[in-house]
Amino acid sequence: MNLLALDLGGTKTTAALVELSPAGDARILQRVTSPTPAREGAARVLENALELATSLADGRGRGHEPIRAVGVASAGVVDVHRGVVTHATDALPGWPGTDLVSAFSTRFGLPAVALNDVHAHGLGEARFGAGAGRGSILLVAVGTGIGGCLVVEGRPLFGARGVAGHLGHLAVPEADGVTCSCGRTGHLEGLASGPGIHALYLRRGGRAADTREIAQRAASGEELATAVLRECGVATGRVLGGLMNAIDPEVVVLTGGLSQIGEPWLGAVREGITHDAMDAVAGTPVLPAHAGVEAALLGAAAFAQDELTRGEEV
Ligand SMILES: [Zn+2]
Repeated sequence: MNLLALDLGGTKTTAALVELSPAGDARILQRVTSPTPAREGAARVLENALELATSLADGRGRGHEPIRAVGVASAGVVDVHRGVVTHATDALPGWPGTDLVSAFSTRFGLPAVALNDVHAHGLGEARFGAGAGRGSILLVAVGTGIGGCLVVEGRPLFGARGVAGHLGHLAVPEADGVTCSCGRTGHLEGLASGPGIHALYLRRGGRAADTREIAQRAASGEELATAVLRECGVATGRVLGGLMNAIDPEVVVLTGGLSQIGEPWLGAVREGITHDAMDAVAGTPVLPAHAGVEAALLGAAAFAQDELTRGEEV
C-alpha cells in the first residue's frame, strides 16, 4: 500500500511516499525536505507542507499504485481524534488550532490522520526498528528536549489529551531548583536535555559552545565534562528505572542526540536505571533505536494505514 507521510518540525518539513507491504515491511520510495517557514506563521507552514506533499504526489507520473491515505506527524500536541494541533512551543508560533486532517484530506481527496511526531517516531521504531516483534516498547528520545512514547501491541499510548509520553517533565531529585522548558522546576528535561547539559556545564564554570563540544571534552578525558555528562545520565536513568517499575515495557529504546554520544553518558544511564528499577524489571533490555531518521515518517504512514484498515473493517 502506498501512503503519503509528513514529518513536520520546527526547523524542517519532510514529505515522503511510503510503501507498506502486507508482510509488514516499509520502504521510502521518494522523499523531499524543505526548511519549515516557522517565522512566517502557521498558514505558511501548513501550505509549505501541502506543497511538498503535492510535489511528490504529482511527480510520480502514470502507472503507479494509487496513494491510499495521508499520515502527518507534527511537532506539538495533536488531538488524534480530530487531527488538530492543540499546543505547540515557540518553535512554531501560531501552530495550535491548525486542522491538519482537514487540510490534507481536502487537498488530496484522501483519508488523512495526524499525530504528534514523537508518537509517530515511537510507532515507527516499534513496527520497523528495535521494537519489531516485541509486544511493547518505551521509546525515549534525549536531545533538544526529552520525550518518549509507549507503544503497546502496535499502538502508541496517546493519552486523553494527546500528551502522553512527556517523560522529560517527570521530577528527579538531581534537577531540584533547575528551571524546565515548561516553566516549572525540578523536571528531568531542564537538567538533562542537550541544552540542560550545556547550561549545567556553564554553571559549573566550564566553557563550551554546545553539548557536542562537552562530549568531545569528556572523550578526551576532561573531568568536568565527564562529571556533568555522568550526572545527567544518572538522572535520566533514574527516571527510566521509575518508568520501568510503573509500566514494565518489554524493551526500552534510546534515540536522540545524546544517545549518539555513548560513554560516559550511556553507562551513567544504566547506573541510574540500576539505582531505581526494581529487581523484577532491572533486566529490561535498553537498546539503541535503529529505524533511522525516517522513523517518524514510517510511523505516520503506519498510523494512516491502521486507521484506513480499521475504517474498512467497520
Ligand atoms: Zn518540565
